[in-house]
Amino acid sequence: MKVAVYSTKPYDREYLTRANQGKHQLLFLEASLTTDTVMLAQNCRTVCCFVNDQLHAEVLKRLWDQGVRFIALRCTGFNQVDLPTARALGLVIARVPEYSPHAIAEHTLGLILMLNRHLHRAHYRIRENDYSLNGLLGFDLVGKTVAILGTGAIGSVFARIMLGMGCRVIAYDPCPSDDLAEQGVVYKALDELWASADIVSLHCPLTPVNYHMIDQTVLEQMKQGVMLINTSRGALVDTRAVIAGLKSGQIGYLGLDVYEEEGGLFFEDYSLQLLQDDVFARLLTFPNVVITGHQAFFTHEALTTIGDTTIANISHYEQDQLAQVHLVD
Ligand code: NAD
Repeated sequence: MKVAVYSTKPYDREYLTRANQGKHQLLFLEASLTTDTVMLAQNCRTVCCFVNDQLHAEVLKRLWDQGVRFIALRCTGFNQVDLPTARALGLVIARVPEYSPHAIAEHTLGLILMLNRHLHRAHYRIRENDYSLNGLLGFDLVGKTVAILGTGAIGSVFARIMLGMGCRVIAYDPCPSDDLAEQGVVYKALDELWASADIVSLHCPLTPVNYHMIDQTVLEQMKQGVMLINTSRGALVDTRAVIAGLKSGQIGYLGLDVYEEEGGLFFEDYSLQLLQDDVFARLLTFPNVVITGHQAFFTHEALTTIGDTTIANISHYEQDQLAQVHLVD
C-alpha cells in the first residue's frame, strides 16, 4: 500500500523503514499535515501522522476526497483528530496504544529529579568554575506525596517507580486499577487530591472534558510550592494560570515535556530565529522550570515498537483484518 508519512524526521524514516521490510511504499514527507500539504498525499490510500499533524474537519474532508481511507497515527494520544468528522466520513483511524510506557514514566522521574536537585543549574555552575551550593538545596523524595492523574499504561508504571522511591502515591482515575491499589496506591476523588500532594503528575489523555483541568482554581487548592509535572498533553494545563502560580510561589517547580502551543515549535530547530511565542518565552525565564520538547517517548525501545505497530496496523488494514488493527475508539 502507498502511504504518505507526514512530519518525517530521520529517526522516523530509520525505524519505519526497518519495520516495513519493503511491505509498503512509504512516501516520507518532511512537511507536517495541514490544509496546505494535504495534496502531497495524492494517490495514497493511507496517511501516517504524528502528534502535531492537523487532522481537523477540513483536512479530513480533503483527505477523503483525495481517496485516503486509513490514518495510521504513530502515537498514543489522538486528541489532534476530529473524531466525529472522521467517523461521519468513514475514515478508519489507528494508533499505537502502548509502545513503551517506561520511556515516558522514566522521563517523568528525570524531570522530578532535575527540578528537585536543581541539576540543570548545577551542570552550568560547574562548567563556569562555580562550585558553590547556595540555591541548590533539594528535598528527599522518600516519604513525599505524589498525586497521579491517570493510572493507565504510563501512570501505572510511574506509580510503581514512585512507590519504589518510597513515596506515598495517591491517584485519580475514572477507572481505578485494583492491582495498583493492592500495591499501595490510594485512589481519591479529584477534589481530594490536590491539598496533600508535594508533586502532581499528569498522565491522562487530553479530551474536551479535561481541557485546562489544571487552572487557577485548582492551583489555589494545591500546596504552596508544589511541583507540577506534565508529560501528557499541553492543553491539560492553563499555561497563563501556571505562570501566575510560578510568580506567586504557589508552584515551586514546573516540569513540562508538552506545551499547549507546541505545534509548529517542538520537533524543529529554530535556534537561528527569534522566539515569537511570548507565553513560552516567559516560561523560559523561571529558574525553577525545566522544559523538554516532547521527547519523553524518544527511546530506542519506544521507536522500535512504534515502527512495528504502525506497519502492522497498515498491513492488517490492507488485508481487511480490522479486528487486528489498533483502532481509535
Ligand atoms: P492510557 O489510555 O493507558 O491511560 C490513560 C488513563 O487516564 C486511563 O486509565 C483513563 O481512565 C485515565 N483518564 C481518562 N480521563 C481522565 C481524567 N480526566 N482524569 C484522570 N484520569 C483520566 O494512556 P497512556 O498510554 O498511559 O498515555 C497517557 C497520555 O500520555 C496519552 O494520552 C498521551 O497524551 C500522553 N503521552 C505522552 C507522550 C510523550 O512523549 N510526552 C508519549 C505517549 C503518551
